[in-house]
Amino acid sequence: MAEGSVPQISRNEILRPTAEMIASYANSPESKRRQTEFLRAKEERRVLLIDTCSDARTARILAGFDMAFVSSIAGAIRPEYYRFAYGHPGFPNIIVATHTNGVLAEGASLKDLEGCGGLEAFQLFKMNGNVDPADPLEKYAVNEVKDGNPILQAYRKAYDVADIAPDKTVFMGVINHLTGKLDIFGVMKNESGRIGTVSAFLHGLTEEALRENKDIPLLTPDMLQNQGMINELMRINEKNAAARTKLVEQVGNLAHHNEIQDPPFIYIASYVHPITSSFAEMFDDPNIAFRVRVPKQKEGKTVVTVDTEIALAQASYAMGKNVRQDGPFDHTQNILIYMDNVDFGDYMAEQVKNLKDFPKWREMGGQVFVVDRGNVNNIKVTNHE
Ligand SMILES: [Zn+2]
Repeated sequence: MAEGSVPQISRNEILRPTAEMIASYANSPESKRRQTEFLRAKEERRVLLIDTCSDARTARILAGFDMAFVSSIAGAIRPEYYRFAYGHPGFPNIIVATHTNGVLAEGASLKDLEGCGGLEAFQLFKMNGNVDPADPLEKYAVNEVKDGNPILQAYRKAYDVADIAPDKTVFMGVINHLTGKLDIFGVMKNESGRIGTVSAFLHGLTEEALRENKDIPLLTPDMLQNQGMINELMRINEKNAAARTKLVEQVGNLAHHNEIQDPPFIYIASYVHPITSSFAEMFDDPNIAFRVRVPKQKEGKTVVTVDTEIALAQASYAMGKNVRQDGPFDHTQNILIYMDNVDFGDYMAEQVKNLKDFPKWREMGGQVFVVDRGNVNNIKVTNHE
């Protein structure tokens, strides 16, 4: 960690956190400051909604706290699950971004892109052809992922998002999780029921063109005529550049830090606001939390249901990897549950206990924290002690 940057907890502390420690971060003045920044941006209708992979290495790719997140394995979950977020008037601009380990930046063929476990699982299941419908992750990969290729997956997801979010501006991009670079390659908009990429003559992306092209031209401001989109694209690029500088300050060599996905936490939340504003400084580095956003249905401001099944399928992926101890997720021994109300949180914790690998995971040291947002000092812990 660089001298003079924000105080952060050590890797050892975060591997074995306590309820007191989590509460102190949630109560900190810096958390309050960041939450205020988010709420102001929401009121001013300029929050950027980021839809990306749960992968812990995709965190912190943009600087600031005026952002909201939906995250799922491969970023692939159907947009219908997060209708409340895509339709929110405070979030006019959306980025759909998949991620890779960077072969794109080297100008390699589209076919060579890799690095997202979810997309790789999808390809594997497609190749083998024998999907076990009882396996929640296999079911997820086959039902939710549209394409094993990150460019095409982002394109198809952006189309689906534009379909349910008229008048929103939907950027498409790919994150290189070893450099932190976010490459925006297109923008999709649904105007009066007509969905298409903007500025067709200058930037005529079609799925066919994407499938055939070896090089994907990045979207540049001069390709756009709409001033609002130009400003937003420039803002995204600036936020990404600032984040990359900060990441290097914080973790040194990002490629080394992010080589293997191995976060101490699985974060399960129904909130879309940033984890880094709810628990400031605790999650400021990348590769600390595998993030699952729980779909919910709202009536006005009230949450009426949460969809636990698809969230649990994703959490079980990380837990299963931890239990197998074969590299990725070897240190993933904490689950932090943060839901709209404490009853939903308790319910989710009970569901976690029913996961196939839970008994083994708990025996190996796994612990579950349920944080009550109304009173962050009220944290319930399930562990083996
Ligand atoms: Zn991924």
